[in-house]
Amino acid sequence: MKYFAIIPLFLAVLFAGGAFWLIHTNVKAVPRYEPVTIEEPVFDAEAYLRSLKAQKKPFNSRAVHRLVLQRTGQKQGVYLESMEPALDSVALEVINVFHSVMGYEYVPVITSGNDYPYHARNSKHYENKALDFRLMGLKREERRSVIEMSQKRLEGRARVLWEKGEAEHLHVELLD
Ligand SMILES: [Zn+2]
Repeated sequence: MKYFAIIPLFLAVLFAGGAFWLIHTNVKAVPRYEPVTIEEPVFDAEAYLRSLKAQKKPFNSRAVHRLVLQRTGQKQGVYLESMEPALDSVALEVINVFHSVMGYEYVPVITSGNDYPYHARNSKHYENKALDFRLMGLKREERRSVIEMSQKRLEGRARVLWEKGEAEHLHVELLD
């Protein structure tokens, strides 16, 4: 008869255990929230240039040209269709410099190719051997870094000029 005293205790333990089990299974039943992270492909011009150099066969120059167009903005009316292939790879270097200074989100803008009728008559723009990149909107030290890094990077391949004035820009032209 005295064992009946244990029954409420036994029931209490059973109830607590059941409640715990219910809560536990219920928690498990709720699908866990997993934040979906979409990896944005980051354009890494340096890695791209390394892969270019590693290629044994000549790289598809149209693909390089397309990449230059994809990675830049172009001022309306800019004509780049007949660019020399060597100018495309020079442009990629400049784009990479812009990215190093301004971050990978930055989209450099090409303001002139072979299009502007007011370049000097012997300008390399008319030979599809020169490009202008916009510098407006950048801080002074950023503009300076872009110019100096581009000059260093392209030494022996292209001439980089800091064209100051109203429409301040980086002018880059292939060497003869
Ligand atoms: Zn120019």
